[in-house]
Amino acid sequence: MTKAIYPGSFDPITNGHTDIIERSAGMVDHLIIAVLKNNAKSPLFTVDERIEMIKKVTSHLKNVSVETFDGLLIDFAKKSGASVIVRGLRAVTDFEYELQMAQTNRVLAPSVDTIFLTTNLKYSYLSSSIVKEIAGYGGDISEFVSPYVEKMMKEKLKGRDTV
Ligand code: ADP
Repeated sequence: MTKAIYPGSFDPITNGHTDIIERSAGMVDHLIIAVLKNNAKSPLFTVDERIEMIKKVTSHLKNVSVETFDGLLIDFAKKSGASVIVRGLRAVTDFEYELQMAQTNRVLAPSVDTIFLTTNLKYSYLSSSIVKEIAGYGGDISEFVSPYVEKMMKEKLKGRDTV
């Protein structure tokens, strides 16, 4: 049984993330979406809110579960019995950092491999930060996130001037 982990901040989950989740879930027996708890970036949504949104958006995928982790990803991978880490690559700008992480993780845990899925072209520009910025200025984010995430974003930003 192949178990994989898709780690990230998911603050919030976008259609780009969902694309990677749907595609990678089709390749493995079980996919754990691992939400990073101790984030250096100060997140807009709490971990619980992020998990709730991910669960809603992926409820059609029966072999996907959502968990949180802090500390080293590789420790979480070992603990969960996962042998694969999934990451998405949008552009060359993602590549250098991702390569460094994958190589470091491979030294730390040779039994865990990282696979990269290149983004669907229509989401190659998309990031959680851009979505927050657009929403913060009152823009329409319906092309970028699911209706549920759009609703959560509206609630979160109510009463705030900008993100
Ligand atoms: P992190 O804080 O680790 O960058 P993110 O939540 O931003 O976490 O992203 C998690 C993973 O999803 C990363 O591998 C990232 O490259 C990938 N990803 C983010 N946005 C997209 C997108 N639009 N298309 C494909 N992959 C994406």
